[in-house]
Amino acid sequence: MTKFVFVTGGVVSSLGKGIASASLAAVLESRGLKVTLIKLDPYLNVDPGTMSPFQHGEVFVTDDGAETDLDLGHYERFITTRMKRSNNFTTGQIYKSVLEKERRGDYLGKTVQVIPHVTNEIQEYVKRGAGLGSPEAVDVAIVEVGGTVGDIESLPFLEAARQMSLKMGPTNSAFVHLTYVPWIAAAGELKTKPTQHTVQKLREIGIQPDVLLCRADRAVPDEEREKISLFTNVQLHGVISMWDVDTIYKVPRMLHEQGLDEMICMKLQLLTKPADLKRWDRLVHEVEHPAQQLSIAMCGKYTDLSDSYKSLNEALRHAGIQHHARVHIEYVDSETLSDANVDQLSRFDAVLVPGGFGKRGVEGKIVAARYAREHKIPYLGICLGMQVATIEVARHLAGLAEANSTEFDPATPHPVIALIDEWQDRDGSIQKRDQGSDLGGTMRLGAQSSDVQRGTLAHQIYGDVVTERHRHRYEANEHYLERLRQAGLVISAITQRDKLTEIVELPREVHPWFVGVQFHPEFKSTPWDGHPLFNSFIKAALEHQASAQKPLKAVA
Ligand code: GLN
Repeated sequence: MTKFVFVTGGVVSSLGKGIASASLAAVLESRGLKVTLIKLDPYLNVDPGTMSPFQHGEVFVTDDGAETDLDLGHYERFITTRMKRSNNFTTGQIYKSVLEKERRGDYLGKTVQVIPHVTNEIQEYVKRGAGLGSPEAVDVAIVEVGGTVGDIESLPFLEAARQMSLKMGPTNSAFVHLTYVPWIAAAGELKTKPTQHTVQKLREIGIQPDVLLCRADRAVPDEEREKISLFTNVQLHGVISMWDVDTIYKVPRMLHEQGLDEMICMKLQLLTKPADLKRWDRLVHEVEHPAQQLSIAMCGKYTDLSDSYKSLNEALRHAGIQHHARVHIEYVDSETLSDANVDQLSRFDAVLVPGGFGKRGVEGKIVAARYAREHKIPYLGICLGMQVATIEVARHLAGLAEANSTEFDPATPHPVIALIDEWQDRDGSIQKRDQGSDLGGTMRLGAQSSDVQRGTLAHQIYGDVVTERHRHRYEANEHYLERLRQAGLVISAITQRDKLTEIVELPREVHPWFVGVQFHPEFKSTPWDGHPLFNSFIKAALEHQASAQKPLKAVA
């Protein structure tokens, strides 16, 4: 029998509901339970795939090719259950499904309404996410409701949660509410009023939380906890303090020590072994006691919002942990990079060009790839970063001065990167693909496998086969591969099914570590083992640092 924990949020957003949910899941998993997490997003976009990373942060891609909320990345990094398409859905998806049913006549002429049709649909999706009725059914599904209580948008989700809990009975569901307790400096006090009000809002719609997670910049003292308990009707031991920490990996222990998992297991009548957080403690110890440090230049476009590269930042840090090294990531805005100022990259131990879309900042990324190649600085190009490395080699080593991707210059005489149907039909002229107006679902998405060529750096890292996740439209143009090979580029992995270029690199005689990958390895990195590609990249960066014997510099 699957039990459900609904996690809601109050007062303001960005309090770390995703981390709190993932942490609870991690502690429950350590008690031997099979756990999954489901994220409900109350916006009308069908998925976050078409949303700007400025607005929405990273789009996390699952093995089965779903473009999802970045919280699913936290989930995969915190628990062992892998996320699937069904672990994240939006209001847009719910309405789409309800409207399709209505058109098909499934509702037999009834008036279709938010209650019960939309709320029923939400419950079906939640159950599907928990694997109900399948061999993959979990013991506990933690359902994170996006948005803030009081928003019009999230009402149907909360109503669906209330109904589910009513149907399942009190021992099969629990409600956890994350709230904010602000410190008012002028008064020198933590204020509980916003928490009182947000719980009132919840109770108005029939939800009495079992637990309050009180986010504050400091620990919430007993006096305030008692006050919160009294006004919110939550047992005192259910009022849990969640203060700011320097690493998210401290959160599972913080919640466990205040009895959160014990309380949830009591409520849900789950008999389990005790929690075991030793590996989290070891992880925190590693994070806090690095033996060395290094700095990496991340040359991208979404530089003012590190959420755009959430998984990538995490993957670099995980790999650092494997080498007992603290990784400092410095964002270099590729729009401002040019031949005139690219030597600013000389002070870094490695250069990384991450994924991206659109023309803006691309020339700066090409400049960065060239600088890293010529100065033998370890270079990792991810997705677009592989494409710019390929363009760079084409322009400066293969003599194709105007080489480009058709994404940035549709009329380029040398489309070394192009849409598949542009180059597959190609007989001298580029055929323009009609992309139509639907931007959803036109990408190569999800996990695919490639064969890796022996004797290459990629083979040393991955072995014979690499399976990684994708999210892109453009590909290395087969018609140019021979020319690029002659110019010194090694094509070290080719997809098994479509024979597409998956990894490019430079031979080690020419460059110590220069790799471009068409996939997104960052989605599969965990804090436990790191990820083989990032581990190798960080090792190369440390070797570069040692060989350059540069003084260590701390980058904030
Ligand atoms: N814009 C490129 C493409 O669509 C790269 C995408 C990416 O980096 N994720 O192929």
